[in-house]
Amino acid sequence: MQNWIKMPLAIVAVLAIALASSVLTVAQAPRYDLLLKGGHVIDPANHIDEVRDVAVFQGKIAAIEKNIPADQAGKVVDVSKLYVTPGLIDIHYHVGHGGAPLNWFAPEARTHALPLGIPADLALQSGVTTIVDAGTSGAETFLQEKEEVIDRAKVRVLAFLNIVANGMSGGLEQSLDQMDAKLCADTIKKYPDLIVGVKTAHYWTGGAWDAEHVPWAAVDRAIECGTLAKVPVMFDFWPRPERTYEDLILKKMRPGDIHTHVFAQQFPIIQADGKINPALAEARARGVIFDVGHGSGSFWFRNAERAEKQGFIPDSISTDLHTGNFTIVSMNNVMSKFLAMGVPLDDVIRRSTVNPASEIHRPELGTLSVGKDADIAVLELLKGRFSYIDSGVAKMDANVRLMARMTIRAGRILFDPSGLSMVDWENARPQYFTTPDRGESLPARADDFPRD
Ligand SMILES: [Zn+2]
Repeated sequence: MQNWIKMPLAIVAVLAIALASSVLTVAQAPRYDLLLKGGHVIDPANHIDEVRDVAVFQGKIAAIEKNIPADQAGKVVDVSKLYVTPGLIDIHYHVGHGGAPLNWFAPEARTHALPLGIPADLALQSGVTTIVDAGTSGAETFLQEKEEVIDRAKVRVLAFLNIVANGMSGGLEQSLDQMDAKLCADTIKKYPDLIVGVKTAHYWTGGAWDAEHVPWAAVDRAIECGTLAKVPVMFDFWPRPERTYEDLILKKMRPGDIHTHVFAQQFPIIQADGKINPALAEARARGVIFDVGHGSGSFWFRNAERAEKQGFIPDSISTDLHTGNFTIVSMNNVMSKFLAMGVPLDDVIRRSTVNPASEIHRPELGTLSVGKDADIAVLELLKGRFSYIDSGVAKMDANVRLMARMTIRAGRILFDPSGLSMVDWENARPQYFTTPDRGESLPARADDFPRD
């Protein structure tokens, strides 16, 4: 009989605990969940523009240092030769139904306009981790948008509230009765975590003026709502002789208000002599903010490139993605156009991260600061022969293109189409090679990292 069998039970228990704890020490949980190793970090908010390692723990940025040992992380992703930036912010996007009736396609529907919203999570394909719906819904339709889209999206969704209570595409955007500044402000105050501003758009762009359609009605009511709720207003605008562009940006807009679609065909960005309209610099000096809002109808190289060559670059880059243009533009596509026009990469990143975060008064976004949500984009800068198109169906040749390789939202890898974070299938763990026979079986996956 062996001696250990004769030992009192208590001593056996103590030995067992000691053995177990020494095993635990060896198999200690790693300090970080995820380590992005060797990437070129561009984090304008923190003045970082160099190769650094980025560590994530429990959904937050845990460290950005020159060399974080690989053995400190549960998952290590080699991102050398790639750029690591804060998750991008697209402040002009469209989600949900807005004002469109649910039966918009039926013969008996009030209007037949296609709902503008596209799936929120499509934004993840461009490294975008925060989108802002640009007024698709108003006071009467916001709750539907919240329940239908915002509460269910993986990407973070915020919103500008349309001054029109019904929102967009419901056939009521020209009705003054719909533009109730107090109702608008009360709704914004009810959802301070989600609604970041007011939006006005599409108001009476061509018809004759009458009592119901006066030149500045939508602009004035949106500003009234913005003032009551203490939030910025985003303007989609069509200048006419009775309401000029200069009056909008030099008199009506308040400091911090945002003019989207800045390079659209209808704005006098470039004068007859080829020089940039001096009102733009004057407006900037007043604190007016300029945003791209590209879309299918709001970006012309004849304005954009000539303005860029004269030193005018919009404060924020955004897409205006909606059902009418998601095959034409993406955040990476719009950013690439600015690279193609000669804007340096770090500046393009600034205008797609920290700048839009500041415009919507969310300084905790658009940065890789330690302790903030681990919203991260991994981007590749491709060199080759590329061409870009504008809303006037003209094109521009270029030799650069920016492409998202991985998108991380709150520490979860939500987009990784080339498997940067994955093993070669032949080297996968045994579980990958199993054939589950029941729904409760372990899935045949190569790792357990959170990916949805
Ligand atoms: Zn829009």
